[in-house]
Formats: sequence, structure tokens, C-alpha cells
Amino acid sequence: MIKFFNTLSGKIEPFKPIVSGEVKLYTCGPTVYDYPHIGNFRAYIFEDLLKRFLVFMGYKVTQVMNITDVDDKTIRGANADEVELNEFTKKFIGVFFENIEALNISKADHYPRATEHIPEMAEMIKGLLEKGYAYKKDGSIYFSIEKFLGYGQLSNINLEELRPGQRIESDEYEKESAHDFALWKSKKENEPFWETEFGPGRPGWHIECSVMSSKYLGQTFDIHCGGVDNIFPHHENEIAQSEAYSGKKFVNYWLHCHHLVVGGEKMAKSKGNFYTMKDIIDRNYDPLALRLLLLSTHYRKMLNFTFEALGQSDASLQRIKDFLYELRNHPFEEGESKDVSQLIDEQMNNFKKGLSNDLNISVALTAIFDMIRKVNILISQGKVYSKDAEKLISSIRSFDRVLAVLPEEEEEPLPPEIMKKIEEREKARRENNYTLADEIRNQLLQQGIVLEDTKDGVRWKRK
Ligand SMILES: [Zn+2]
Repeated sequence: MIKFFNTLSGKIEPFKPIVSGEVKLYTCGPTVYDYPHIGNFRAYIFEDLLKRFLVFMGYKVTQVMNITDVDDKTIRGANADEVELNEFTKKFIGVFFENIEALNISKADHYPRATEHIPEMAEMIKGLLEKGYAYKKDGSIYFSIEKFLGYGQLSNINLEELRPGQRIESDEYEKESAHDFALWKSKKENEPFWETEFGPGRPGWHIECSVMSSKYLGQTFDIHCGGVDNIFPHHENEIAQSEAYSGKKFVNYWLHCHHLVVGGEKMAKSKGNFYTMKDIIDRNYDPLALRLLLLSTHYRKMLNFTFEALGQSDASLQRIKDFLYELRNHPFEEGESKDVSQLIDEQMNNFKKGLSNDLNISVALTAIFDMIRKVNILISQGKVYSKDAEKLISSIRSFDRVLAVLPEEEEEPLPPEIMKKIEEREKARRENNYTLADEIRNQLLQQGIVLEDTKDGVRWKRK
């Protein structure tokens, strides 16, 4: 059974998706106003681990990650650079996708952009006005937090501290200042705006996620993720907007990832204590070592970033690669051993059990490194055989379907007897002996080699 800590209940709960075997997952994406720092990627890597683990356990996962390409920060950035908003955000959207590729973060099914969903946002805001949860003031529209009785359920905000009727326009604010928040901000000088039936302006940040999640995942879905700093006000406000609008429960499980800190302080743009992917690559670190570092501390614990720790992750990663190299190149004797099969089963079990328990990554990583340590001893004692080596390689590859810290499997060269057959077929084709050529092609197919004739000659791949 898979269990997760649900921020909404404050407890570890068994995970039960709405539709058996399927998971609908929403992850708050980047605000594209600057180069992301590695603290941002801690949350995306946690979400990727979660997704990959669910897929590994047989779930069909649909993931949506929004791109916030209009908000206070992006507008400020575009104005400072004196360019159009979309020109400004385009650059950082590109950087974001380059970075997630380097970190082996699997692609979401949808990356909706806020600016492409303004009519849907206007629709939800209109509904909230009609239902009496929202009101107009000076051309802007605010959500009235006192109207929504469930306000504060996620962040456990002290309801006595609520200041209903007082308004806040800014997208981000502290827990101590819970106010009616802006759904729609009236048109201002030097700001992009959209025309709607309730007047020109632009959306607030929170409404973006309410609209884009329900559009792609439905009004009620399984898991919503983000960093702990999203809990208030962002996620609290998402719940208020969505539930007030639909009258249904918005999300069943809320999972939040803790901060990446540097010297005890949260890594943040505003503090200037951050590193970008470029900083990591410029110092010659493998982005996948960073991935391993960022996922190797449990997601609900704070993680202190140091280059020393990054170096240790790099060494751990190298240990896995060395192990694979040994398995591929050691002259093993023919045969197999029950001990090795048993060890693999045992550690695969520990790996799954660990991750099933609220993504307990320490248990999962221990399973892998224990297996490597024990097998290395067995190899030195001559107790590992050729079949075992194959099974071990495929078990490491299985673990890596979840961790995704190894580079793509390199194509191994074909054995010489196969290469010879391909040449023979080429010769037959040149001599117009198509019967022989087809015969050889079929033989190779049975051995798992698919041939493709292109204008540049024949190409092969493994089936
Ligand atoms: Zn969001």
C-alpha cells in the first residue's frame, strides 16, 4: 500500500486515487521571470520522483505543470528590460525546459500557459461574482475570504487573524496578513491587459492554477504538489476559488516539498544566496549528480546545499556506474546463482517498500547501495555468474526508472556475427538477390535486430 503525508489532514494517509489505476497530478510550475535556481528544482525533482514512482507501481499518471507567464514579477521584469511581456518570458521558458532536460525531469503531459487561458479565468471569476464569493472594487475583483467557510483548512491559519474586507493586490503575502485577494487586477499604466466583460485588466496569480488544473484534470483531482512556501497564500487561495466555484472538493492529496537552504537560509532570488544550473555546470558537476543530491533527502525535510555534498553525490553516482561497468565487462562464468536472485528480489522489495512509505528515499537508496556492496563481495569470491550479471544490470535499470540519475543506456555495439550477416545482406541486395536479402533480414529479426533501409544505407536497432 502506498502512503503519503497529506498537508490537508496533517497525517500520513493511504493513497487511493479517484479512478483506480489512474492518477491526476498537478504541479505548480515556474514563474518565468528569471533563471531558475536549484532550490526551485528541488520541488520539480521531488514531483518527478513521485510521478516516476507511481508509474513504476503501475499507475497511469496525467501530469499538468503550469507556466506562469503573467504576474507581478514577470511584468516588473519586462518593464525593466523594456520589452513586451511575451518576449521577456519566452527566454526564461526556454531556459526552464533546457534545465529540466539536463536534470532528466520527465515531461508533463501539459504545460498550460496563463496568458493562453484568460477567457477561462474570466469565466471562473464571473461565476464567483454570481455566487457572491467575489466583489468589485475600483475596477479590480477580489475574493471575499469570509464568504468561504473552509478558508484556512490547508495552512491552518488562525481564523481570528483574518481581516475580511481588507484587500491585498499583490500575489504574494505573509500568513499574518490574510486579506481578500485579487482575482482580477484592473488595467494599470505599463501593464499588459485583456478585455473582459467586467472590464480590462489581468488575472491574479492564484486564479491561474485553479483554472488550468480543472481544465486539464477535472474539478476534483488526486494530487496537487508544490513547495511549502506555496501553502499560504497560493494553495489556500486555489482551494477557496475552486471549491467556491464548483461546490466540490478540489484536491484529495496535497504534497509539499521543503526548502533547499544555504548555510541555514532558504535559497531565494530575493536573498541572493542562490545557484543556477549554469553555476553547477560551469563548476564541472554532472547535472545528474545534482539530481541525486536533491532527491536523496526526504522531501519533507530541509536540505542544506553545499558543494561538498554535491561532490559526495557525484561519488555515489560513480559507484553505480562502476558497478554497471563491472557487470558488463567482468569475465563471468556461465550460469546463475540463487543467492543473487534472492538478493535482487529482496532489495527490489525494500526499494518499493521504502518509496511506498511517503517516498522514504533513504530506505530506497540503501537498498541499491546495499545490493551493490554485497554483489561486489560475491564477485570477488567468484560467486556471481553471467545470468546474474544480466539480472543485476536490469535491476539497476529498474531502480533508475524511478531515480533517473543514470545517462541513457548507451547503444552497445552488435556482436561480430550479426555485423557479418548485415554485410552479407547488403551484398545480396547489391546483387539483386532479394530472396536471400529478405531471408537474412528475417533471421536477424528473430534475433531481435530490426533493419531499416534508408537512402544513406542500412540502419539497425534493437527490438
Ligand atoms: Zn500554482
